[in-house]
Amino acid sequence: MTTSSYELVDLAVEQATPVIKRIAKEVWQFAELSLQELRSAQLIMDILLEQGFTITSKGTAGVPTAFIAEYGSGTPTLGLLVEYDALPGLGNEAVPYRELRKDQVTSGHGCGHNLLGAGSVGAAIALKNVVAEQQIPGTIRVYGCAAEETEGAKVYMAREGLFDDLDAALHWHPSSSAEVSNYRSTAVDQMKIEFFGKGAHAGGSPWLGRSAVHAAELFAHGINLMREHVEPTARLHYIYESAGIAPNIVPDYARLCLYIRDCDRTHVEASSAWVKQIAEGAALATQTTAKVLLYTGMYDLLPNSPLAARMQGHIEHIGAPAFSEEEQA
Ligand SMILES: [Zn+2]
Repeated sequence: MTTSSYELVDLAVEQATPVIKRIAKEVWQFAELSLQELRSAQLIMDILLEQGFTITSKGTAGVPTAFIAEYGSGTPTLGLLVEYDALPGLGNEAVPYRELRKDQVTSGHGCGHNLLGAGSVGAAIALKNVVAEQQIPGTIRVYGCAAEETEGAKVYMAREGLFDDLDAALHWHPSSSAEVSNYRSTAVDQMKIEFFGKGAHAGGSPWLGRSAVHAAELFAHGINLMREHVEPTARLHYIYESAGIAPNIVPDYARLCLYIRDCDRTHVEASSAWVKQIAEGAALATQTTAKVLLYTGMYDLLPNSPLAARMQGHIEHIGAPAFSEEEQA
């Protein structure tokens, strides 16, 4: 870019700053969980509409809080990814230390997910203003990627081919350094493992029951033994989502949620197959039945080195942000 185009972009970003701050603040306050980000998505869509974008899709790829907005026409087509969902249990006042929210909202944006949408929408608006003024052809497409913390709308958008005509897609994540991250992320499978047993009075006639929780425990033990024999790149983490109602009832139902991460799909799929065998084994041993549902899976992120190098050049030109003494205190 020439010095004058840097100046144009600088000015456009400066002008978009109030919008960036507004989204960051309001999405923090909304703190909506995956698939419930109705207000966050609506706020971002409203802002994009005000700024001259067209909403070309709502409830995209069957995800109710996903959307697509577009500006311009022709090529190149640049995609900007916007995310806005919160995590449970991370609700906090907007201060850099632990302080529960006074309004009792318990969900919150742990690693800056209120900024993801704000930054990408700000970039889309700034870019739109520059290309409009300079009459540069091309399409800017903003993807409202809902449920980033769970299933990820992107998976379903990709399945429908909604990224196929892009020349490039840009996304970002808040971090303690300003740089282009040119790395592969892990691939992941997210699974629900259910066990079905037989209820009985745990004190009176336990021999009539078969505990689904025992199957879940045995399954989890199997996962923990499996750990020794997977490559160091593998990560397996689970929670018990359902583990009985009362100790004096033999639980007829139990459910775990398990994530398997690894360096690529091949590794993840090998572990997933093993996990299914562990579930079947646990069911066999406890005379229960198992049902394994792979409810979402993702490929590892494929980096784009030439694009990353160009972006890094631009970042270095702009330089790191300056922080006030108060901000550094
Ligand atoms: Zn994050």
